[in-house]
Amino acid sequence: MSEPTVFERIVAGEIPSSKVFENDRLLGIRDIKPQAPVHLLVFPKSADYANVTELAAGDPALLAEIVSTAQQLADEHCGGQYRLVFNTGAAAGQTVFHVHAHVLGGGLTEGSL
Ligand code: 5GP
Repeated sequence: MSEPTVFERIVAGEIPSSKVFENDRLLGIRDIKPQAPVHLLVFPKSADYANVTELAAGDPALLAEIVSTAQQLADEHCGGQYRLVFNTGAAAGQTVFHVHAHVLGGGLTEGSL
């Protein structure tokens, strides 16, 4: 069996995190190394999907729930406007292979990623 990802360990309570959202299927936390004034992560509690392509194919309703949760968090933290990023593949910057959305907002500049 492969090693649990950092997000599985956060879900299990083995690693502390700053939680901003939780329900039965999703967790939302602050990114430990923020790349924007508001930088949140939203991910499924289950480790069944490594990336957004797998999630879209396997459980589109859960992907839609991530998007609606991102909007809710953006409403609460950065005036409702945000950038939603799913890094997909190591060459694109993905480091944790447990699907997660980056919710970025608050003073993003045009053209910044
Ligand atoms: P990726 O590079 O896979 O798209 O995103 C992984 C994100 O997880 C990175 O932005 C990184 O800063 C964040 N991260 C990694 N380890 C931890 C951790 O232990 N706690 C929190 N809150 N974020 C983490």
